[in-house]
Amino acid sequence: MAAFRQLDYFALEEEFSEEERMVRDTVRGWVSERFLPVIMEHFEAGTFPHELTPELAELGVFGPTIPEEYGGAGLNSVAYGLICQELERGDSGLRSFVSVQGSLVMYPIFAYGSEEQKREWLPRLASGEAIGCFGLTEPDFGSNPGGMLTSAVKDGSDWVLNGRKMWITNGTGCAVAVVWARTEDGVRGFLVPGDTKGFTAPEQKHKWSLRASITSELVLEDVRVPESAMLPKAKGLKGPLGCLTQARYGIAWGGIGAALACFDEALSYTKERIVFDKPVAAFQIPQQKFANMATQITMGQMLALRLGRLKDAGKMTHSQVSMAKRNNVHIALEAARTCRDMMGANGVSLEYQVGRHLCNLESVYTYEGTHDIHTLAIGHEVTGIAAYR
Ligand SMILES: Cc1cc2nc3c(=O)[nH]c(=O)nc-3n(C[C@H](O)[C@H](O)[C@H](O)COP(=O)(O)OP(=O)(O)OC[C@H]3O[C@@H](n4cnc5c(N)ncnc54)[C@H](O)[C@@H]3O)c2cc1C
Repeated sequence: MAAFRQLDYFALEEEFSEEERMVRDTVRGWVSERFLPVIMEHFEAGTFPHELTPELAELGVFGPTIPEEYGGAGLNSVAYGLICQELERGDSGLRSFVSVQGSLVMYPIFAYGSEEQKREWLPRLASGEAIGCFGLTEPDFGSNPGGMLTSAVKDGSDWVLNGRKMWITNGTGCAVAVVWARTEDGVRGFLVPGDTKGFTAPEQKHKWSLRASITSELVLEDVRVPESAMLPKAKGLKGPLGCLTQARYGIAWGGIGAALACFDEALSYTKERIVFDKPVAAFQIPQQKFANMATQITMGQMLALRLGRLKDAGKMTHSQVSMAKRNNVHIALEAARTCRDMMGANGVSLEYQVGRHLCNLESVYTYEGTHDIHTLAIGHEVTGIAAYR
């Protein structure tokens, strides 16, 4: 595989600090050397390369913005974004694994947890010794999590949880599940250790997207946890939605990574592939496709960078995240499809990356708020009128 060459049409390299570039380049090198050689095999088998978890922990990608005293790397949000970009250049399943661990498991414990919960879980999650999952979606409630049926009922000093979650990344074999459940006081979050009696997490098989990512159902049958398992500072749907804002931020950068991978691969391929006595890249129609993709990717890079700077300044809004996630995943999906086409039949072979990214991005388009739900979030912000129902 040829060395990756990043598109940087507007010299954004100059906008990153030395530390941000160093973090990006370290993760980029690791993805090229350690991950890309094994991803095809895992994608085909429908497995995640768990043997690489200690190396990911060593890289510091689990909860990189969490302070060092809890095991995190204390990096800024732009560095975190660049990590997501590079991981998703490898595979959306890899970025999903890391996003869930950091933004959907470590973040709620850090932001909403008690000091004991932070001390108990964060260092273990940062070191990869414990892998967590985030259970919000249910069989009948995805875009509208407020309708959830999973319940938590107080019994003495314990809570008893019952219900089902679906499409939960990293559920099978997790050490801890962040489970969102309805209580008399509204939605609350609970830290459920994976070995708790009544908790099971069977794997959901037969996916044609995010194949190198474990997706699970969570079944909760009279799962009893102590009072101390509840996240004390998360009250109502704001709790899970706040976590999703963090994860969507990473996806906005991740989309760029997937698009860059496809663009780079198709560019190399079309310069080599001869049709009608000339390289594919020498014809006007492919050049128009490259011009369109280069423009879209460049705009996506600027959006992600500005979003990151706003986040680090404490000024980012959830509707800005909606815009960046929606746009960047959309342009990545379009780029993956265009690149797949430009590579002809080889575009459907797993020997190349474009088809894998194309399939993966269909899930990314849907999870963490579908494309259309983010459209409504932006529409709400712009018009002041909510159109969800
Ligand atoms: C691989 C994968 C991994 C996932 N990982 C997790 C995870 O770790 N944790 C977790 O909790 N969830 C996870 N999810 C679930 C994901 O977040 C949901 O699938 C997503 O929120 C959409 O919900 P749904 O599938 O129920 O679709 P639905 O809500 O049924 O939506 C179906 C269609 O209707 C549209 N729609 C819905 N409401 C409206 C409306 N008001 N107006 C217009 N159109 C509307 C949607 O845009 C969509 O096109 C994962 C999903 C996948 C595919």
